[in-house]
Amino acid sequence: MAKKEITCSYCGRPGELCDTLVPSSDGKSYICSDCISTINDMLQTYKGGQATKPGKKIKDDLQKVPKPAEIKAFLDQYIIGQDDAKKYLSVAVYNHYKRLNQSSDDVDIEKSNIILVGPTGTGKTLLARTIARMLDVPFTIVDATVLTQAGYVGEDIESLLTRLLQAADYDVEKAERGIVFIDEIDKIARKGDNPSITRDVSGEGVQQGLLKLLEGSIVNVPPQGGRKHPEQRMIPVDTKNILFMCGGAFDGIEQKIAQRMNTHVVGFSTDSTRNRVDKDDMLRYVAPQDLKSFGLIPEIIGRLPILTHLNPLDRNALRRVLTEPKNAITRQYEKLFAMDGVKLTFEGEALDFIVDKAIEYKLGARGLRSIVEAIMIDAMYDIPSQNIKEFAVTRKYAEDKLAKAHFEANAV
Ligand code: ADP
Repeated sequence: MAKKEITCSYCGRPGELCDTLVPSSDGKSYICSDCISTINDMLQTYKGGQATKPGKKIKDDLQKVPKPAEIKAFLDQYIIGQDDAKKYLSVAVYNHYKRLNQSSDDVDIEKSNIILVGPTGTGKTLLARTIARMLDVPFTIVDATVLTQAGYVGEDIESLLTRLLQAADYDVEKAERGIVFIDEIDKIARKGDNPSITRDVSGEGVQQGLLKLLEGSIVNVPPQGGRKHPEQRMIPVDTKNILFMCGGAFDGIEQKIAQRMNTHVVGFSTDSTRNRVDKDDMLRYVAPQDLKSFGLIPEIIGRLPILTHLNPLDRNALRRVLTEPKNAITRQYEKLFAMDGVKLTFEGEALDFIVDKAIEYKLGARGLRSIVEAIMIDAMYDIPSQNIKEFAVTRKYAEDKLAKAHFEANAV
């Protein structure tokens, strides 16, 4: 039989696209050399061995990997403050590459999944996205709130690997060394500290499912996700080398931290220790036991050994967010206007006003853009059809436009 008439019975590729096709003993089916090598790699992994082929490729990649200080410098261009979190992330990502590069007979470097704790709008997702920009590995962000225990409405936990597979263009080997950012991990916390007697569908069940992925196991992933395609052939994905980053606001965790520290102080120390605690910045003392009190199961906490926090953004930080990052909001508007040949400027007092409003409406960094948008809408509408070369946003202009937009009413 001519080679081009036959196909690989595993991947379906026609013979002309395969190096070699090996027939079965009855000659009815064939397997191509690529599938043989994939199966070989999988067998090695199942046996606990190290696949040799990926190792080679990854080694090449490591030459290109930026050092932790370079990663942090890159993050600094886009994210204001949050030095601790940046440092932890830079090291974790760098080590992730190193771990991928380790040889199997060495000391086994275990992966260090990360958990970021910080109020909403402080830059957790921004950090994850910015890291993704500079990385050479597949990366995906998923929201923990859409995940549910198998059999319930929502997405199965495996679906987060579907997204990673998609990000890797269905290259399993690539996906297996990718990074997954799970947002809003706090929303799947068990309600209350006690294990509940009734099943907690949205909480503990999901945590148990997630645990399987964090621990490192071979998971059958539906390549198209969801349950809409029951006929699809599952793709086995090994999560051993996938780095998981989790983020969550953990609203109210400060009280848990305060409780723990108070007990600690009363039990073991003197008043001077208590005084040294900065009551306004409790998050920086966050410890694994606080996550447990919040409702994460200990097994999950154990699999997220790197715990770091993000600070709430104060007035000064919000002001910097407006102008300093590489793609700061004001810079984006300046660019928009420049495309019409108009030089746009924001006066300092106008920026102060915008920050004040974001604080007043308790919108934090997330609100800055919507406030600026409300202020700029008229100018963006009118200016392109006017013959203007310069436009300055003054405090008065900002006040008038925001009042006109009824922003206050809309924001509440
Ligand atoms: P989180 O994930 O912590 O809830 P995000 O990262 O989604 O918050 O932040 C929302 C928006 O606020 C970002 O897109 C960004 O414009 C801005 N922002 C928040 N924190 C920072 C920061 N530290 N530096 C620069 N911009 C920030």
